[in-house]
Amino acid sequence: MDASPDIEEPHAGMPTAPSEATMAEIAALLRFDTTSRDSNLPLVEHAVARLAAVGVDAALVPSPEGDKANLLATIPAADGTVTGGIVLSAHTDVVPVDGQVWSSAPFEPEVRDGRLYARGAADMKSFLGVLLAKAPAMATARLAEPIHLALSYDEEVGCVGAIGLVDEIVRRGLAPRGCVVGEPTSMRIVRGHKSMNVFRVDVRGLAAHSSLTPQGENAIVAAAELVRFVQGVADELREQGPFDDGYVVPFTTVSVNRIDGGIAINTIPAECTVHFEFRALTTVDHEALVERFRAECRRIEAGMRERHPGASVTLTTTAAAPGVDTPADADIVALAAAWGGEPSDDKVTYGTEAGLFANAGIPTVVCGPGDIAQAHAPDEFIELEQIARCEALVDRLIADLSVDA
Ligand SMILES: [Zn+2]
Repeated sequence: MDASPDIEEPHAGMPTAPSEATMAEIAALLRFDTTSRDSNLPLVEHAVARLAAVGVDAALVPSPEGDKANLLATIPAADGTVTGGIVLSAHTDVVPVDGQVWSSAPFEPEVRDGRLYARGAADMKSFLGVLLAKAPAMATARLAEPIHLALSYDEEVGCVGAIGLVDEIVRRGLAPRGCVVGEPTSMRIVRGHKSMNVFRVDVRGLAAHSSLTPQGENAIVAAAELVRFVQGVADELREQGPFDDGYVVPFTTVSVNRIDGGIAINTIPAECTVHFEFRALTTVDHEALVERFRAECRRIEAGMRERHPGASVTLTTTAAAPGVDTPADADIVALAAAWGGEPSDDKVTYGTEAGLFANAGIPTVVCGPGDIAQAHAPDEFIELEQIARCEALVDRLIADLSVDA
């Protein structure tokens, strides 16, 4: 993370302490408990008010149920242009603190030993706080092209909210030329991550007394066939690739992570549910892979129906977020480096909303303050130095996008 003294620091003289204004914005955001299962509207309304105070209009893109919302705000160029420009993207929700032991109250931000502690400090309210703290500067700058602020809900439950947010950017014809997703990368410029795809398979057989096996249809046995198949695909991808050495795990991973079935030791189980996921390289044909699993479900179902016509094997996609693989020579990569992001060839194991922006034709990188190792953990924290680096990045971005004096 920290450049050691013998490594040339790319932006020497950078402040290591964030401004009080930024710390106040971040602290205010951290006090909203925006655990994904709850509404993010209080935080979003706070952000709308902060932006309105500096003359920036924000639009809400509500969830289908209306209990949550994305926020989209465009700070136009000096000549009024709202198209093109750069998107700065953050999610507003945080993961639960359930069952975690914290040294301080998770929604009461606390600074100790050069670190800011709170749920969301790293993932990713510090980035969001920097954006709000820099909104006055964005609003008063003579921008040559617009800056779009895109705040989403429900990222932590599978990038749900950002789908509608990206749709809104497309619907408005904003056509940004690049996007920075400020998830914690320790300010490295990350160009790639895998897709995330989560499935539930409900197997329905027929219950019977376990002594009367011909009268039942065993859902666990059928589910076990599927588990074996899924693991076979996992082994194949591990052995045969495709591979990308930018990743710690350089192949597409497939994993069965949960199984629920059966009600009693002397009853043939009528129901069994299998949960599995895959995380794919962008070079893998995603649809074809899903179709292999669907086909296997149909095959198992057909076998069960020969004995019990009411049997079923149903595959449901419960979460999906596309991967991203922005080319090293994309403009947004050079821009992020010019603004102070740290060039890197590393790809990351976690998913972000970057794939949604990229799929909409917006070249995207992930670059934000804080270390993903601290995200989701008890005593989540961010180094204050990381916040200062993020402030410097947004300052340079504003200056770079401004009309030359
Ligand atoms: Zn995050």
